[in-house]
Amino acid sequence: MPFLSATLDRVKPSPTVALTGLVASLKAEGRDIIGLGAGEPDFDTPDHIREAGKRAIEEGKTRYTAVDGIAELKAAISAKFARDNSLTYTPDQITVGVGGKQVLYNALMATLNPGDEVIVPAPYWVSYPDMVRLAGGEPVFIEGAMENGFRITPEQLEAAITPRTKWLIFNSPSNPTGAGYSPEALKGLTEVLERHPHVWILSDDMYEHIAFPGFQFATIAEVAPALYDRTLTVNGVSKAYAMTGWRIGYAGGPVELIAAMRKIQSQSTSNPCSISQWAAVEALDGSQDFLAPAVETFLRRRDLVVNGLNACAGITCPTPEGAFYVYPSIAGCLGKISAGGAAIGNDEDFCKALLEEEGVAVVFGAAFGLSPAFRVSYATSDAQLTEALTRIQRFCAGLS
Ligand code: GLU
Repeated sequence: MPFLSATLDRVKPSPTVALTGLVASLKAEGRDIIGLGAGEPDFDTPDHIREAGKRAIEEGKTRYTAVDGIAELKAAISAKFARDNSLTYTPDQITVGVGGKQVLYNALMATLNPGDEVIVPAPYWVSYPDMVRLAGGEPVFIEGAMENGFRITPEQLEAAITPRTKWLIFNSPSNPTGAGYSPEALKGLTEVLERHPHVWILSDDMYEHIAFPGFQFATIAEVAPALYDRTLTVNGVSKAYAMTGWRIGYAGGPVELIAAMRKIQSQSTSNPCSISQWAAVEALDGSQDFLAPAVETFLRRRDLVVNGLNACAGITCPTPEGAFYVYPSIAGCLGKISAGGAAIGNDEDFCKALLEEEGVAVVFGAAFGLSPAFRVSYATSDAQLTEALTRIQRFCAGLS
């Protein structure tokens, strides 16, 4: 349509958001669907955080705030970075946006010029490449091999850096694989980055708190202080505190970058919701008792899902270190025909047929840049997961 901008041709709608919408509409039609697509905790936001939100309404904290966050929230974020990551960020080094998504978008819009390259390890979260393109840049992909737990190697990173590289977007534990980089694995990468002073690092730590026993979370600016001045450390309350709908993400970084991001936000959304900001203060400053049982629940579900998927003919599922996703390979299912007669030529065919024939919704691997695979979000009840695994096993057994 000539009326629409040429930029739109460079991007696609978010496949994760689209699947969430599709599942909702199929359920509304009365279909028996198990949604393992949406990347959001199934828990309710803890009571004390909800109370803080209600209090903010009662107390009339319902007006515009400073564009990139109220002072109280910046103080809570500063304390969080010091407490959890041994990082010092003063209030003018902190920005708050409408979810981690807006924070990433602001950073890319504030820094990319046409032709700038951004290194994105694959499999990647669906929005990284398209946000880079929307901001005028070019994503450059490095594939993390399944045999290496989907982690990229220092050699791969070195080979991907060019004079045009502006950012590395880094995400551990990863959406969509759950792969986590130990402090030692991070060191291998940061040594490469230290040799290339023109490359900035966007560390997306959204799944920091969902880390399983045996894996120690660390963030880039923490393990490599030499990179602190060119790292944007991004985080948010959505996943850790079951607050996806409140839309609060934040970041710490160099003052000039934060100011540039504020300028972008001042001309788009202005401040994130005032009520959500007060709830986020409580999430970060209040009791953290919610976290440990949530991680235990996710750990139990991870093992249930990994074992269940590995019992399916044609599927191989590695065991991830964190987040609430697994990313099984379906290499053994390609070239087959489903019981319902669908030809399985790629992972999109697999996921479509699985939805149509068994009512299980998962996101196909091509959306995350590494095929043939699919992503399962196991942030749903054990009963639903058990039923979904029975259906996936039946679906795979029916392939011929
Ligand atoms: N981050 C979540 C996911 O990957 C939420 C949806 C989105 O924003 O992509 O499913």
